[in-house]
Amino acid sequence: MRKEPNMTSLGWIPPWKLSPQNTYILRNAKVINPNDGSIMESATIRLSSGIIQSVTTTRIIEQEEPLHSYEITIDLEGNYVCPGLIDCHVHIAAVPGEKDLRDTLELAEHISYMRQPYVCLQMIRRGFTTVRDCGGATLALKEAIAEGVIVGPRLFIAGRLLTQTGGSADPRGPHDDSECCGGPKFLGRVCDGVPECVKGAREAIRTGSDFIKIMTGGSITGLSEKITSVQFSAEEIRAIVTVAKNSGTYVTAHAYTPAAIRQALDNGAMGIEHGNLLNAEVAEYMAEKGAFLTPTLSGLAIAASPDFAGALDPSQEIKLQEVLEAGKRSIEIASDAGVNICFGTDLLGPMVAAQTKEFALRAKFLSPVAILQSATVTAANMLGQTGFLGQIKSGFAADLLILNKNPLEDIEVFDKPEKHLLGVFKDGRVQVSRWSKLREDVVVPISDIQ
Ligand SMILES: [Zn+2]
Repeated sequence: MRKEPNMTSLGWIPPWKLSPQNTYILRNAKVINPNDGSIMESATIRLSSGIIQSVTTTRIIEQEEPLHSYEITIDLEGNYVCPGLIDCHVHIAAVPGEKDLRDTLELAEHISYMRQPYVCLQMIRRGFTTVRDCGGATLALKEAIAEGVIVGPRLFIAGRLLTQTGGSADPRGPHDDSECCGGPKFLGRVCDGVPECVKGAREAIRTGSDFIKIMTGGSITGLSEKITSVQFSAEEIRAIVTVAKNSGTYVTAHAYTPAAIRQALDNGAMGIEHGNLLNAEVAEYMAEKGAFLTPTLSGLAIAASPDFAGALDPSQEIKLQEVLEAGKRSIEIASDAGVNICFGTDLLGPMVAAQTKEFALRAKFLSPVAILQSATVTAANMLGQTGFLGQIKSGFAADLLILNKNPLEDIEVFDKPEKHLLGVFKDGRVQVSRWSKLREDVVVPISDIQ
């Protein structure tokens, strides 16, 4: 047990700081390559300092690398090893615990903060080693996970998303004429005109945003707009994009309709969230631009399911029906056009437990390997993590899943983590174990070893 506070020759160390990662030799693995769906049989993976040091066949490593006493060797018994999953559209701050969406979005911030560690733990237990938070999660949460204070996926955050007055994330209904600039308490910021948009984007960067999220069209949750509305002017979007580019990052836009998608892409955004109503023409435009589309079918499908009847206001229900069916077709249209498709869920409040349902929804339109790519290599490209996340290769982050069934034969393997996901490594540590051979080695034990 570390003393606290701890002064060493290296200076003060926070009491929760994790000791260096173990070196793991994972033998007898079937390693899944998400690029082409190929499988390396009888592989040995060496993890050390949080990085994948090598992936070789057992025969080669036995000849060239004798084992040392400080290494932990685990025979994976022919189980599958897959890159850790990446969910590119979550809102950790929209925590479960309230019965409907309105109560979720009106929850006091300090209550949300207390529940966020629970949400993060559940996500990594489902196999998501990285998530991109599209509005609400804070730098403090990202740092707490990175430092080991709480167990969760590595985070890329938008911080507060940007929306115009009356835009998708303006929390006021049409009968509310109060002056306001807040946005939902912990998800967004309302800004109008170039100076406010510049200020909002710079505040996001100042407070740790990894990218900027803007609302360029109507939403299901917005209370004062139509799904067809186009939001933010070209000048406003260009100003936000300039701030993002100057900070070495990018802008992604919430947009359902072709007009809202074009408004975003014409003015420099490189990501589109949802995109449910896109057509072939706009899909081709997206492909030409090399833009990334993050569809979020489960958010809509779960909201429309009988389990969540009454979770939305009547006006929200109408908009939901408008985009739900179209959203399914949009994935096929985008795929045919060659758009970069990422995996996303966008589940809020009571619906967050359905995160892995997205796999089955996509399986109707995409092959298992295409779905896996959306949650690994393509997602890593969008995050600017090509060469570090999304593959089991030497030099990549040691983020990997141990599965007892091949997800490329049945992608719904990911929807049953309690049955098929034996363990989750993130950053070279066993964060989750459902197998006696794997011992969790993070500070807060999950005590799920059987
Ligand atoms: Zn969202």
